[in-house]
Amino acid sequence: MKILVVNCGSSSLKYQLIDMETETLLAKGLCERIGIDGRLKHEAIGKDKFVSEEPLKDHNDAIQAVLKALLDSEHGVIKSVDEIDAVGHRVAHGGVDFAKSVLITPEVKAAIDRNSELAPLHNPANLIGIEACEKIMNVPMVAVFDTAFHQTMPEKAYLYAIPYKYYEKYKIRKYGFHGTSHRYVSQECAKMMDIPIENLKIITCHLGNGGSVCAVQGGISIDTSMGFTPLDGLVMGTRSGSIDPAVILFLMRKENLSVDEMDEILNKQSGVFGISGVSSDFRDIEEAESEGNERAAIALDTFAYRVAKTIGSYVSTMNGVDAIVFTAGLGENGSSTRQLICSYLGYLGIEIDTYKNSLRGKATEITTKQSRVQVYVIPTNEELVIARDTNEIVSNLN
Ligand code: AMP
Repeated sequence: MKILVVNCGSSSLKYQLIDMETETLLAKGLCERIGIDGRLKHEAIGKDKFVSEEPLKDHNDAIQAVLKALLDSEHGVIKSVDEIDAVGHRVAHGGVDFAKSVLITPEVKAAIDRNSELAPLHNPANLIGIEACEKIMNVPMVAVFDTAFHQTMPEKAYLYAIPYKYYEKYKIRKYGFHGTSHRYVSQECAKMMDIPIENLKIITCHLGNGGSVCAVQGGISIDTSMGFTPLDGLVMGTRSGSIDPAVILFLMRKENLSVDEMDEILNKQSGVFGISGVSSDFRDIEEAESEGNERAAIALDTFAYRVAKTIGSYVSTMNGVDAIVFTAGLGENGSSTRQLICSYLGYLGIEIDTYKNSLRGKATEITTKQSRVQVYVIPTNEELVIARDTNEIVSNLN
């Protein structure tokens, strides 16, 4: 079975075509600037990369361009659209409606639409992607939600201490994000440890432009650091993460800020970028730090401290921890950030092996033999999870 995995943003569309017999990636690409002018970057594995500047006026055009690239005699990997057996869509917010991936039906689409209120930038784009595919492909489609993995959190973890009526009226509660990634790396970690996941307490750290930590006990999420929105929790590239909510009220009054201006400050001007004034990219901040920039050093330490503090809180939540996993752009590549985070975790008996921590590109344990808790670097693969869920749901249809 060949599965097309689609991840739609408001002006972008990422895709992968995966052969599920061998779980091999056949081709991948990205449509950018949809609705502006349009660009498609396509790469079939083992073939030359290909860029098309054909205009993409909407997501229908983008899907057409993706199929054209996949069918192309020179750069393509299939001879007919019929070779694509199913499509798996990444969907940002499933709200309380979806605790797992589902076959897309009119009712599912209505629920995704209802939850747009909770993810106004992402869910509408995801729906557009689904409908664009439906227009030109007559195959089963599956929705895989970023929030679904965290639906197992207990009430005490997801409720906010504000009047209960707002939970009832607006569903204001913690949802958590990056669920597909936390699920994948925790399962991979259990495989690497050769211990059933049901018997493990794992803390997964998805550290990229956005970041979240998750407490995975017995294979299920029992708490995570992102909340009602992906603004909560860790210090991120440009996002503040958790702050005293009164700071927002204070700033709005003092600076006479509108809601949109405050939103922009918290989401786009804060995080390590806000503290350092250098960049949201850790590579730039590390470079500035090495040149003696003090605010860059403080930004890196504040980031690591917050991650370590969150890990510590989940050790108490789970009453212990067997393994810690780092994943995503920074988690997979930022060896000095991993080292700094773990330097706060000596009380857990964690000892990092400096050589193993310097290796890149594949799943590795980075702790010494003496370390009492194992630490792993595991490259995430959300597309593969989406393809696996799609494969499982579609195979059970027949
Ligand atoms: P992601 O959102 O998962 O694509 O992660 C992107 C972030 O990973 C970038 O903004 C960088 O801060 C970080 N990153 C990527 N490569 C490195 C690296 N070699 N060293 C440090 N940070 C990195």
